[in-house]
Amino acid sequence: MRSFATLAIWSNERIRSKLDWYYKVSNNVLPAKYLICRRIAAPDDVWDMQEDELWRLHERLSAEFDQLRGMVRMGRRDLGEEVRPNFLSVKVALTKKILSHCYFCRWYCRVDRVAGKKLGACQLGEQSRVSSYFHHTGEELPIRGTLGSGTIFFTSCNMRCAFCQNSDISHDKDNGTVFTPRMLAWAAWLLRMEGCHNVNFVGGEPTIHLHNIVEAISLLRNFNEFMSNALIAKADYLPYPMNPRYSDYRGEFNVPILWNSNMFMSREALLILRELVDIWLPDFKFGNNRCALWLSRTPWYLETVSTNHRTIYEWGEDIIIRHLVMPGHMECCTKPVLRWISENMPDTPVNVMDQYHPDAYCNPNDPRYDSRYGDMARYPTRDEIYAAYKYAKELGLNFDDITFEKSLRRVTL
Ligand code: SF4
Repeated sequence: MRSFATLAIWSNERIRSKLDWYYKVSNNVLPAKYLICRRIAAPDDVWDMQEDELWRLHERLSAEFDQLRGMVRMGRRDLGEEVRPNFLSVKVALTKKILSHCYFCRWYCRVDRVAGKKLGACQLGEQSRVSSYFHHTGEELPIRGTLGSGTIFFTSCNMRCAFCQNSDISHDKDNGTVFTPRMLAWAAWLLRMEGCHNVNFVGGEPTIHLHNIVEAISLLRNFNEFMSNALIAKADYLPYPMNPRYSDYRGEFNVPILWNSNMFMSREALLILRELVDIWLPDFKFGNNRCALWLSRTPWYLETVSTNHRTIYEWGEDIIIRHLVMPGHMECCTKPVLRWISENMPDTPVNVMDQYHPDAYCNPNDPRYDSRYGDMARYPTRDEIYAAYKYAKELGLNFDDITFEKSLRRVTL
């Protein structure tokens, strides 16, 4: 088997140049962002600070982070020694404060998830549940590589897509097992030690679990214990041999953090994630708010998701955008989304996905089927899929190498 680093896709400059940071972190040539955060000192009283003080501190440390990351990236200096408390402590403290009047996502529910008496749109309190975690071999080639993407599936979501392809976990907040941040960190460590090329936080939606994930990232290190309670959700058929070489960056545990998200997050959540996420894998589903409201019961979709995408692009982050072609949504969704990407995020790798299938409320064979979604109760036609490819090609999008790699088929457009 070829190694991850020598996969043919990396010789494609349009992909390689856009995913340079991720490629190098995954191959342990560079440290993940969380390791850089550990070198940015925070004041000793960080745990006693008020929320507005923490935000001001976060802004200052973010600038320090950029400086250090730039130098490490160019090879001008080593990481240096870890300090405590550090930038990760600030992020952990902030997310804990936010949780008591939650504004992790665009709903801005402001509910106290610690008290848990009133719940927001995600229906979650303080705890996170994991449905399963495993080596995902179905993601895009740069993500799944040769040994898979270390995917951790969280339950519940902040959108309610009637056609959700993962509705068993996204529509069921009680699915799975309660995972503490320490269990999450252990699961991520195990996946990486078994050769996964990244830790892929997904759901449902990971953003609604931000406090637990941020704390888990702060705990990411080499473990020398066995957590049987965390092993319960591991869903790999085959055992994967562990090898410390997979994760070693100059003696430290290293793994790129991947955020696999619907991007319906708040600006504040995005700011917290900026210095943690090494590669973004966002969905861009709808080209207008009417479809988002009808199919996902989500208001403010277009302005929220487009602004978040553009912000990431302006930050110069590594990103692959996913757009799922839905039946009958070429003019209202696929074309406007692809056009927006070409105008606002040119050259960004895009996966134009053909795997829509009627699911959940759109599946006539499902007890939840709702005939009002009858238009969505079919697969996209071959003509619709080809029309999407053709339009992406006309726009000059960087989509074909990511979209077509799985079947090795090239569509003549
Ligand atoms: S994560 Fe979003 S949906 Fe859930 S309570 Fe917070 S703001 Fe509301």
